[in-house]
Amino acid sequence: MRTMATTDVGGLERTCFFCSKPIEDKKSKEHIIPDFLLARMGIKNETITGERTVEYAKVKVPAHRVCNSEFGSIYENTIRAHLGKVQDLHEALKAGEQGILLDYGPSDSPEALLSTWLSKIYYGLFYFDLLRTKDPEWRSVCAGILSTDNFRMIQRSYAQTHGFCLPSSLYAFWSTSKQSFDLRTCVDPAAILIKIDELVLILAVADGFLAKSYLAGETLANLRAIIEEKEQANPDFPGYLVAWAEVLALRKCIPKSPYFVYSDDRIINMSLSTMVRDPASYYRLDEERLSAVRRAVLDDLRIIIPGL
Ligand SMILES: [Zn+2]
Repeated sequence: MRTMATTDVGGLERTCFFCSKPIEDKKSKEHIIPDFLLARMGIKNETITGERTVEYAKVKVPAHRVCNSEFGSIYENTIRAHLGKVQDLHEALKAGEQGILLDYGPSDSPEALLSTWLSKIYYGLFYFDLLRTKDPEWRSVCAGILSTDNFRMIQRSYAQTHGFCLPSSLYAFWSTSKQSFDLRTCVDPAAILIKIDELVLILAVADGFLAKSYLAGETLANLRAIIEEKEQANPDFPGYLVAWAEVLALRKCIPKSPYFVYSDDRIINMSLSTMVRDPASYYRLDEERLSAVRRAVLDDLRIIIPGL
């Protein structure tokens, strides 16, 4: 595996976030959190990746002008229109959540667009931190995320118009809790949450749809019912974080790892294929372990739910 020169931040400053090629001409800066969202949500200073507080508007990464404007015109404008109608978007994402794509290619479905957008924010935040951080420990965390084959596959995939994303489980939840905006990232397992008004989007980054193969149907409906019940009982309670905890706990407990093959200019998601004779029992979740991990994650979030 190739590793990124973690000390060569100067080089990274002149490397395009989108296509990984050097920037020879005048570089542009890609805003990781788009201006329209900053204005709409009234967002200012926030701690983003967990290290320190920065102004969201200043979170920018180097990019070629053409790569930057391409992302804007292909994705951001459509995303902006979708986010203008959060209720419709929520319904559309829910309607598409049963399907698991085995062949992954260019698509303009809301799931594909939002997955790309969230994946760009996720990797962009760590790219930004890698350029800025003074903390060697945090720098190595960020470099670890960006020096993976996954990130290179994502850049390659984007160059071939397949989206800036590997197959990832995307979830949409509805939350009536008072907090109108939230943004969270997790390093291990890789995940991002964004809350815009009532819409909560959670992406299990590059999980090869493994989360979706466990958290779906009735289990997912139950999770939604818990969120609704808790938030109705107490409007201050961030019930959507129960969903965040569930996705994180699940990713830690799924006895399988995502696996992708890049071939003939397309990504093949091998994460769900298997050679074992009885996959149902081989890959069964250890419910006891899941329950313990879920409790630990909820504890970290300072959420107490009797019976969970
Ligand atoms: Zn570029």
